[in-house]
Amino acid sequence: MRRKGLNNMMRVCVNDNQKMVFTVSGVVALEFKDRARTQPYKLWHADLYECGKCGCQILADFGQVPYLEEFEPNFYEKLNELKNKGKKIIEFY
Ligand SMILES: [Zn+2]
Repeated sequence: MRRKGLNNMMRVCVNDNQKMVFTVSGVVALEFKDRARTQPYKLWHADLYECGKCGCQILADFGQVPYLEEFEPNFYEKLNELKNKGKKIIEFY
């Protein structure tokens, strides 16, 4: 599911004192349980924002609930499918 950026919510780069720009909708983010990123946990859709000056990026506007969680039977199947399609997956913990 694709969502539009929530344009009424501002993101500001504190290094450059300027607003960040909405860049990509519906990025796939993979949340891990652990810092070492060995235990995949949840798959999220989120939007990507970027600072036009320094280029730093943030993920924001996460869905209210993950679209897949590790306990669901098709979690790893879906994850592999996304990887095989070459979909960019941003990992975090
Ligand atoms: Zn910046």
